Amino acid sequence: MATQGQLYKRRGHALPPSSVQLTLSALATATPPQTIMLSLIRLPRVFTINQIPKVFHEDGIISGYRHPRSSATDCILSLFQLTNETLNIWTHFLPTWYFLWKLGSVVLMQSAWRDSFTWPLVIYLLSCCIYPLASSCAHTFSTMSARARHICFFFDYGALSFYSLGSAIIYSAYVFPDKWVNGSFHRCYIPIAVFNTVVCTGLACYSRLGLPFLQCNHDTIKRFPECQSPKFSKVIRVVAFAYPCLFDNIPLFYRVFLCVGDGCTDNDTNLLHYNHIALAFLTGFLFATHLPERLAPGSFDFIGHSHQLFHVCGVLGTHFQMKAVEQDMVTRRPWLLEHSIPITLSNSVGAALLCVVVNLTIIILFSLPLLSAPAYKDKTCGRSPQKASAKLCPCC
Ligand SMILES: [Zn+2]
Repeated sequence: MATQGQLYKRRGHALPPSSVQLTLSALATATPPQTIMLSLIRLPRVFTINQIPKVFHEDGIISGYRHPRSSATDCILSLFQLTNETLNIWTHFLPTWYFLWKLGSVVLMQSAWRDSFTWPLVIYLLSCCIYPLASSCAHTFSTMSARARHICFFFDYGALSFYSLGSAIIYSAYVFPDKWVNGSFHRCYIPIAVFNTVVCTGLACYSRLGLPFLQCNHDTIKRFPECQSPKFSKVIRVVAFAYPCLFDNIPLFYRVFLCVGDGCTDNDTNLLHYNHIALAFLTGFLFATHLPERLAPGSFDFIGHSHQLFHVCGVLGTHFQMKAVEQDMVTRRPWLLEHSIPITLSNSVGAALLCVVVNLTIIILFSLPLLSAPAYKDKTCGRSPQKASAKLCPCC
């Protein structure tokens, strides 16, 4: 039978086994019949910021990093081990099931396919399932390699972009204030929202590596990565998500903050909308500021750092948004059916499909230069975290 060291090397790591593995090894020696079982239970070792390439660094997070060339199995095992990504994964993986349950109940119990008035809600709930699922997958598998990390987060951005369109589609259907219903802005609203998703995904992907093939391709190091201009990159990414979000909320902001007189749709639902708006701003604030870990680097590596709080606030915001929209949908249904733009395939399912196709195209375009990179580059950098730091990405 292979020794611990041989097994470790086979998995592509050059580092000594972690303390957990040593303990398991000692136990296995003491009880031979359990040796095989125990040697199979190996929790991957975690590293500090100085042991991994810069492309994996997170602001204010000092420890708890997974191996930068983790196997898929190690990534899945890390779900059950405390690393700096564990709560990032779970805070989006569990809500995915909540939103899936909501989607299932609408589709199955309300016979949504027969009632076009509920189509926007179905699309929105689908987007609410996709964005946390894509995010939890991205956080799980982002340490398989540098290029896997970029591609994982390209999909994460695409899913967030689709969620912003899902929000626009339900706002158009159920949330627009009476005054604006069927006006010129209302008629242009969804086409502009579709266009915004292209801007959002394109800018967010651009913020990681620059333009595909021009600034980022497999044989040039003249990249525009976040490791060269991290602040500028971050600003672009914040703008990429804030801009479509602010645009989507124009009718809601007008309704709850600015509108006076008749036709403002001032009903009980506004309280739920306020909760959603407050959480949305808090979510954006956490994403942009990296608080609290920026104030005390290393103190929130595992629990309480801004990305976890960002996930939690985002999901709570989505929950209140969903409740508010459902209430608007029920209470305003007769009036909207009579006065609003009819809900058709083109302004609901069609817009969503167009968004998916265009966004997938953008993601593929940004991923192609990474996928066509010579495989050896990634491999040679993967023997140990320290070597990876020097070779994986020359600009990092
Ligand atoms: Zn995340």
